[in-house]
Amino acid sequence: MSFLHALTCRECGREYPEGPLHACEFCFGPLEVTYDYGALSALADPRRIAAGPPSLWRYSALLPSASGDKVSLGAGWTPLVRARRLGEALGLEELYVKNDTLNPTGSFKDRVVSVALTKARQLGFKVAACASTGNLANSVAAHAAASGLDSVVLIPRGLEEVKVLTTAVFGGRVLEVDGNYDDVNRLCGELAGQYGDWAFVNVNLRPYYAEGSKTLAFEVAEQLGWSLPDHVVVPVASGSQLTKIDKGFRELVGLGLVAPRAGREKDDPSGPVRISGAQAAGCSPVATAFAERSDVVVPVRPETIAKSLSIGNPADGYYALEVVRRTGGQLSAVSDDEIRAGIRLLARTEGIFAETAGGVTIATLARLAEEGAIAPRERVVAYVTGNGLKTVEALAEGAAEIEQVGSSLEEVVEAIEVPRPGKEER
Ligand SMILES: *Cc1c(COP(=O)(O)O)cnc(C)c1O
Ligand SMILES: [Zn+2]
Repeated sequence: MSFLHALTCRECGREYPEGPLHACEFCFGPLEVTYDYGALSALADPRRIAAGPPSLWRYSALLPSASGDKVSLGAGWTPLVRARRLGEALGLEELYVKNDTLNPTGSFKDRVVSVALTKARQLGFKVAACASTGNLANSVAAHAAASGLDSVVLIPRGLEEVKVLTTAVFGGRVLEVDGNYDDVNRLCGELAGQYGDWAFVNVNLRPYYAEGSKTLAFEVAEQLGWSLPDHVVVPVASGSQLTKIDKGFRELVGLGLVAPRAGREKDDPSGPVRISGAQAAGCSPVATAFAERSDVVVPVRPETIAKSLSIGNPADGYYALEVVRRTGGQLSAVSDDEIRAGIRLLARTEGIFAETAGGVTIATLARLAEEGAIAPRERVVAYVTGNGLKTVEALAEGAAEIEQVGSSLEEVVEAIEVPRPGKEER
């Protein structure tokens, strides 16, 4: 059984039956999964959900494949950490970090891939494919291996070595294209036309893929005892994750699973949660449009250490802008130095090692707190979406912090007794 109502065009509202389709045949608008909320409301019950698996599939009623076998490595149900020490450093009284570094292949992409490949298998596909900035490649290759699908992933030149090797290990094909992500994405659009029997998770299966990000909203609400945060900070690459976190919160309010925050109405047109977006200055097309009060996201050529967010022509950039503006959030872009500082700050206050995308989120959070765009009393969640072990290059100069000592007791004791030069206190 499925509560999927249709694939609905975001622009003209035309509806299409379930299938591997991502764009409206009339207006080329993107398609989105819509549900029969009346029918599924009986299953959207906190006790029922709590009795489900400790994975994103506890919310299966609100996902495109409510029943049947799942393609799962156990993604989701990651910790929501009450970040007291980071909050103190930033002057925020109720801060949480959603620690998605702990997913099976180390990034939030495991959520969207689990949902997309579950649908792909139900639709009869035998090959999983994708265009990736790195994390998606890891996740598609791993989930395909575990579910007996073949995989073909296309990546741009110059990704972090770890992300490439930890994709290849799963045994699928890895094609490194001589170009950037936007070249790879365009190619995959064309390939999806030619290889109609391949499931490109973020092309022809994109409507299903995108739904997986809603679980980032569902889990936060459940982990907060079925209540909402005031404000969340989300990294932006294509913008899909950000728009679906908003959709997830709105579904929870619509189904009565959570009450609106004090001061907001149930049908508040601005939406239930303020959503702020985070980009790297070296790839900030959406933040630039926001700053310029423009509706047009002008493509850029990415140049930043935050490679997982390096999408110069974001498919959902326009919709991400709409969500941020409607909910009263902000969109900021931070420098590579701020990204490195963000990685260190999170590591040194909370013991969580994030990749560069997490550095973007924490640096943006720090900026918004500093500017007063996030108030000290707000209940804030920062989404930390990828594991630092994947982007160790970003911290290369950290090797200078390691102290070289001889192997005798005297030498080690002497080193311990001498304070480390230039070491900042925390
Ligand atoms: C892909 C990715 C994102 C952003 O995803 P979009 O939905 O494309 O905006 C954020 N963080 C990490 C670590 C990612 O790999
Ligand atoms: Zn349309």
